[in-house]
Amino acid sequence: MQNLALGLGCCLVLASTTTTQTPPAPTPQPPNIVVIFIDDMGYADIGPFGGKAPTPNLDRRAAEGMRFTDFVVPSAVCSASRAALLTGCYHRRVGISGALGPDAKIGLSDGEVTIAQLCKQKGYATACFGKWHLGHHPRFLPLQRGFDEYFGLPYSNDMWPLHPAYAKLPTEAERRKQGYPPLPLIEGDQVVDHEVTADEQAMLTTWYTERAVSFIERHRERPFFLYVPHSMVHVPLFVSEKFRGKSGLGLFGDVVTEIDWSVGEILGALRQHGLDERTLVIFTSDNGPWLSYGEHAGSAGPLREGKGTAWEGGIRMPTLMRWPGHVRAGTECKELTSTIDLLPTVAKLIGAKLPDHTIDGHDITPLLFSVENARSPHEAFWCYYAGGQLQAVRDRRWKLHFPHRYATLGGKPGGRDGSPAPYVNADCGLELYDLEHDVGETENVAGAHPDVVARLQQAAEQARADLGDTLTKTEGKGARPPGKLQEGDARLEW
Ligand code: MG
Repeated sequence: MQNLALGLGCCLVLASTTTTQTPPAPTPQPPNIVVIFIDDMGYADIGPFGGKAPTPNLDRRAAEGMRFTDFVVPSAVCSASRAALLTGCYHRRVGISGALGPDAKIGLSDGEVTIAQLCKQKGYATACFGKWHLGHHPRFLPLQRGFDEYFGLPYSNDMWPLHPAYAKLPTEAERRKQGYPPLPLIEGDQVVDHEVTADEQAMLTTWYTERAVSFIERHRERPFFLYVPHSMVHVPLFVSEKFRGKSGLGLFGDVVTEIDWSVGEILGALRQHGLDERTLVIFTSDNGPWLSYGEHAGSAGPLREGKGTAWEGGIRMPTLMRWPGHVRAGTECKELTSTIDLLPTVAKLIGAKLPDHTIDGHDITPLLFSVENARSPHEAFWCYYAGGQLQAVRDRRWKLHFPHRYATLGGKPGGRDGSPAPYVNADCGLELYDLEHDVGETENVAGAHPDVVARLQQAAEQARADLGDTLTKTEGKGARPPGKLQEGDARLEW
């Protein structure tokens, strides 16, 4: 499909300067890979995508590399999105949907291959500092999925101290009995903090960053893969003293500015150790803004809706890639690309062998290197949400939604001071949007383009036969099961 896609037509990857230069030569040396993955950051939350909070490091990084304007995730929710990024597969293929809670007895299967495991083939040092959220019992933790080092929260920072039921239960014993344990912090596969307090949440961005910088220093002489899935900007929001009140835009702006600082520290470490031209740095997010939190949520800018929906505001991410000397400075890629493309792209760059099983992503190095006429490798992209609902199918220009129900604020304002406003349900019909001319998905043009509707319906049939669809009650044949906690397995206890 890659060759077919490359031969389709003219290049939409427009360097801000020119497209006639010779593409940069592929690196003679496999690069280090750094993936910075933000939680619940909206499309318009950082300067390069129109954000208002000060993000000088990300602004500079965008100028030094490539900005991806149509980079999507397969599902607008934490665990599903992480599973897709790390395996190069639709989350439905690897059996991980939604967001795993502290009561989850599943996780990413050891039959899957993560980017970290791919990198281990080539002798890379690997580390994950941040929110894992692919199973919290020892058999699912990063150390079992190709990472040499791990430090962070096993799942979201609101699980469950923010849950209303948690606050109502007077004692920890009672909370545990009812299934609401405190939030633990993990190093390796051990709990090092039994209950992460608010003061400690305020230090998470700093702690992840310090570990990332130390990891770069310690591995400056050998190739490495560093994965930094920040806990912020997911609610409840916390910021360290050094950034409190600094953005002038409230707590959310402060938190974004601290994330920007973190990026600056990581880039500074790379520069200090002479690794700039040997390191591909990727910055993106797992899903769009959690809009019900209002002033504690980000913004999807011109895009419709946010987290928890298949609208563009849920799935399209603010994405930057930087690799001086290899990725042209100041360029923009408007082609449809995704987190599922990162694993095959890394495999190509470092010469690793792809997994034997089916993966869904494609190598996007032609786009990354501004190869003339390079096009999106995706003929169709499948958007699943709410368990196994195939809610929409996309291609480069068009997006077809299938009849489904979704949560929306319905034009009402979001919450204040960290409390959410209630969502209401809305129903979507069979609706076609021309994203090239209507990125906000405002005008249903299905009636005017029956040929496009028919083509995307056909693509949806392929998706249903492969990965199933609970909306049409179709069983898929290509989905693999998640990992399951077995009797006798070690449990994470805290
Ligand atoms: Mg998230």
